[in-house]
Amino acid sequence: MLQRALLPRELGASLVPILSALLALAAAVRVPALRAEELPPTGLLLVLILAGAAAACHRPFRSVSTVGLGTLVLPLIVEGAGGVPAAGLAAASFLSAELLLRLVRRRGVYGVPDRRSLLRSLETAGRAVLATLAAALTWVLFPRGTALATVATASGLLYLLVWAGLEAADGKIRRPEHPVLARWKVLLPPLGLDAFGWALGGVLVAVQKTSGWTLTTLLAAACALLALEAARNRVLHERSHHRAFDLERLRRAGKRMVDKGEREIVDVIDRMKTESGELVRFHWFQFELMAPGGELKSWWAGPKGPESELRTGVPEPDRYAPVLPGVHRRAQWNIVERQLRSDGRLLGRLRLWCDPRKLDLAGVELLDRLVPQMSASVGRCLTGREAREDTLTGAVLRRVLEKRLHEVHAQVTEEGGAMAVILCDLDHFKKINDTFGHPAGDAALVAAAAVFKTAWEGALCCRYGGEEFVILLEGMDGGQGLAIAEQVRQRIQDLPFEHGGQRIPLTMSAGVASSPGVLAKTAAELLLFADEALYEAKRRGRNRVLLDVGQGRYQDVEGNLLQSDEAPKAQEPPRIFV
Ligand code: GH3
Ligand code: MG
Ligand code: MG
Repeated sequence: MLQRALLPRELGASLVPILSALLALAAAVRVPALRAEELPPTGLLLVLILAGAAAACHRPFRSVSTVGLGTLVLPLIVEGAGGVPAAGLAAASFLSAELLLRLVRRRGVYGVPDRRSLLRSLETAGRAVLATLAAALTWVLFPRGTALATVATASGLLYLLVWAGLEAADGKIRRPEHPVLARWKVLLPPLGLDAFGWALGGVLVAVQKTSGWTLTTLLAAACALLALEAARNRVLHERSHHRAFDLERLRRAGKRMVDKGEREIVDVIDRMKTESGELVRFHWFQFELMAPGGELKSWWAGPKGPESELRTGVPEPDRYAPVLPGVHRRAQWNIVERQLRSDGRLLGRLRLWCDPRKLDLAGVELLDRLVPQMSASVGRCLTGREAREDTLTGAVLRRVLEKRLHEVHAQVTEEGGAMAVILCDLDHFKKINDTFGHPAGDAALVAAAAVFKTAWEGALCCRYGGEEFVILLEGMDGGQGLAIAEQVRQRIQDLPFEHGGQRIPLTMSAGVASSPGVLAKTAAELLLFADEALYEAKRRGRNRVLLDVGQGRYQDVEGNLLQSDEAPKAQEPPRIFV
């Protein structure tokens, strides 16, 4: 996608035909038979140039540079005025055809041509000059009086041969790793059209010989008009084709955007990046998420390779050299920015950093039409998240935990296996609120939750109550649960939590229970055991973790068995409900 600069190979491939054409013209002027003996009148020459240009517009493939039916005026000029004027005419009509095509392109049928296409146009004009001069040589080499059909056919063949040779050389220089033959399928139709034009030109020469210039010019003009009409139809066809293609593309993009139901927000943003990239050529992608509660997060992706992976942060456009050194001014990134809203609520902001020279307005229009689907997708993801997760800490809600806990417990009871739950509670949390204020308490909760959420990969972390969290460990026994709880305790104790420049010490206590470690008939009962262990940990001085091993006994991380002084109260309702 990103083209840093014009490669020397590209430049070489363009310069070869241009310079060769200039040299060939200079040499050809010295061959008397190729020079203009008597030029047709200026008006007539102008008509022929225009006719050639109009006919040259008929290029069946816009990416392939041959002159289309434009060749039809060439035999006429070679026969009437010599090879050099014919070669000049070929270049002039080809360049005017380019001009015409550019005008059509600017009207939005195709993308605006890039900077290099001027060089490409000159290159193709050079090829036309070389091929025409080669064809004109036939006229010189065949003895006067040779049948016109023979001369015209031979020159036509030579014209095609030179063009094909140049095309092959171009393939070799520009893309040395590509087999030259691979392009022939694309080249054959336009070259065939060239051949047809040349044959028609032979007929025009015959007409000129028998009926004079006026009828011939009229015929040439008529053929050119027909070719122009064909070109116009092709453009219209292409435009409708493009439109249908765009609409289909948009439909598919919209479907992909909203297709999958429950998705993580990063997946949604990654999809937005992919879909935007299909529509608009951008260098940098950025999305700012304005989640409910004021959470602002930004993701970005660079232009290509590993850089195109989505990451958090803001783009750094100046890390890349300008496309053409000295030409592209960095300050002038064209930033396409769109707001994503749902029910009037701002969900986020999409930004595409584009190279102004390559910005395709039709693509931006398509992007605008995709924005509602993007908004819907982000909105749905956020709503889903709101229904699943606590907005402050991002830990899942109690409802989600209870459902999963029930499922896992049923599975363990029926099919065997193990599970453990850790019930964590921050120590003296009220004091933090009272001393440093509620916002500091909130910040502490967020910091602690970040530790709980990363306690174990794949473990479900739930905000069970105010500052109480449950970590569900599937497939783990009590000992493993206890070890993980201890790690979490240690990490909370080591948290460099600060508020207003002041370090606030945080500690927690946790109770662990496991199935089949204790005889819990239901998932709720398992939590009750964990709560008992937590209660005991608090009672024994806090900042510690204990595993409930049943019958009022607990195990600490050193493996000591502790007997509770209080009677077991497993039949009481859980203390933890808030
Ligand atoms: P203990 O060591 O016995 O657990 O003492 P504690 O002070 O932590 O006691 P407890 O667990 O009963 O206190 C819970 C406190 O947590 C009560 C409430 O003010 C506070 N809290 C609950 N939810 C939030 C919240 O969302 N934000 C803030 N800042 N505080 C909360
Ligand atoms: Mg507490
Ligand atoms: Mg509590």
